[in-house]
Amino acid sequence: MLAPPLQRLISELSKLPGIGQRTAQRLAFHILRGSGEDAAALAAAIREVKERIGLCEVCFNLAEGPRCTICLDERRDPSLICVVEEAGDVLPIERTHEYRGRYHVLGGALSPIDGIEPEDLKIAQLYARVADPSLAVREVILATNSTTTGEATALHVAAALHERAPDVTVTRLASGLPVGGDLEYADEVTLGRAFAGRRAL
Ligand SMILES: [Zn+2]
Repeated sequence: MLAPPLQRLISELSKLPGIGQRTAQRLAFHILRGSGEDAAALAAAIREVKERIGLCEVCFNLAEGPRCTICLDERRDPSLICVVEEAGDVLPIERTHEYRGRYHVLGGALSPIDGIEPEDLKIAQLYARVADPSLAVREVILATNSTTTGEATALHVAAALHERAPDVTVTRLASGLPVGGDLEYADEVTLGRAFAGRRAL
């Protein structure tokens, strides 16, 4: 019923998380009604983000260039590594202002049912960082989500770290985070408290 280009835009928008058919339709009509410049700016921003943003070669956070701004910041303590599932989890932790160390983004969580094994994540790279004597890592904070897969990932990594680097303290964020919840949706106060009250694993 709709013109094919409009239908195509709706179908592309509806692939985005949290966007159903109706929202996709509303957004498409909004773009269509708006100015040509606005539409071009949106298209250019989408293209640019894919062209210019890649993964940091050290921590796999998002980066414009080989290293992310946190790895480039000399004031950030390299002996502390906070492990998160996704790059989107870095921002809420940064907003708490509780943490002055570095990060390590795994790129997901272990989930054997979905076929996600340790080698599908940046887990070996984490072990390599912890083993690097020049970084003198003293604590690894496991800030994976408090979901089943996030907990399983934390336990897996903690066990491996205890074996490979017994001198390194391994901690987990304190409770207060919603069980089964994504870090991304936690408010700053709750997340800040969870950080301050992290416990050894
Ligand atoms: Zn980095």
